[in-house]
Amino acid sequence: MESLDEFSVIKDYFFGLSHGAATVIGPGDDCAVLRLPIGEELATSSDTLIEGSHFPFGSDGDDIAYRAIATSASDLAAMGAQPLASVLSVSLPVIDTAWLEDFTQGLAQAVQCFSLPLVGGDLTAGPLSITVTVYGSLPANHGLLRSGARPGETVLVSGTLGDAAAGLAFLNNEWEPDQADREFLARRFFRPESRLNLASSLLKIASAAIDISDGLLADVGHIASASSLSIRIDARKIPLSPALSKLENSQQVLEWALSGGDDYELCFTMPANKTVPSGCTVIGFTTSGNGVSCDGVEIIGSRKGYRHF
Ligand code: ADP
Ligand code: MG
Repeated sequence: MESLDEFSVIKDYFFGLSHGAATVIGPGDDCAVLRLPIGEELATSSDTLIEGSHFPFGSDGDDIAYRAIATSASDLAAMGAQPLASVLSVSLPVIDTAWLEDFTQGLAQAVQCFSLPLVGGDLTAGPLSITVTVYGSLPANHGLLRSGARPGETVLVSGTLGDAAAGLAFLNNEWEPDQADREFLARRFFRPESRLNLASSLLKIASAAIDISDGLLADVGHIASASSLSIRIDARKIPLSPALSKLENSQQVLEWALSGGDDYELCFTMPANKTVPSGCTVIGFTTSGNGVSCDGVEIIGSRKGYRHF
């Protein structure tokens, strides 16, 4: 990509989304500068989405942009952090202005929805790939870790599970949902809720948390191993959307809900006497020991979730 070209594309499409309480210096200089609330620590996380690997070839630009911000916002939520800002590095095969307009429209929606002003980034030529880094703030020493669960606590999830995996399978032409459910399921893949609105209440009540990106069983396994305990899941308690609960193939539905990734709901543990936050469901409990079991069956190996390699 020729450098003058590159900078005008950056200016035309990626500046202008940087306004926010934390933004001291937005894009255009060598670095962005962020203001951190007094007494708070910086939480940061980065994720790369590659065409054909993390979203289907030919996906709409606005959906890809939205999903890239949303999936990173989800990491902040899982930490109990409040959003400060985002940085976006894009690799594009060609400069296609119609695509860029579409892309930045989804970007603007997500930046606003998750309060993650875009303060900088990078643009290079190459296969379509999007890297988002997000920054959030946390009360000093109070981040919600994977390692904080104790035996005898309840295990909960937000929202419903399996929709994004079912949506992705639909986008990949692996099955045909009812006409009325197609948009809902595709949206659940491309437009994750990313429960930042739960972050502050989870900081008060939860002992450990993770966002579900690789599938419930795999991700809950990270809490179990980081907290050195065992997690028991009751599959009948897994919350399902109407679009999935009405399907006849309950084995497939369970597979999506337990092992399909991409939901970006939160899974967390808390003492059993705490009030269940609105929109969340108890799905199991912690106990001494190790590993994850579902309906009494120990989970091992391949059923655990999405693996990149
Ligand atoms: P440098 O070579 O100093 O890294 P760049 O030419 O890559 O600078 O970028 C110029 C400015 O534009 C920087 O402030 C950078 O953060 C910003 N920028 C570049 N790409 C993006 C993008 N995709 N989104 C937002 N800001 C961007
Ligand atoms: Mg650069």
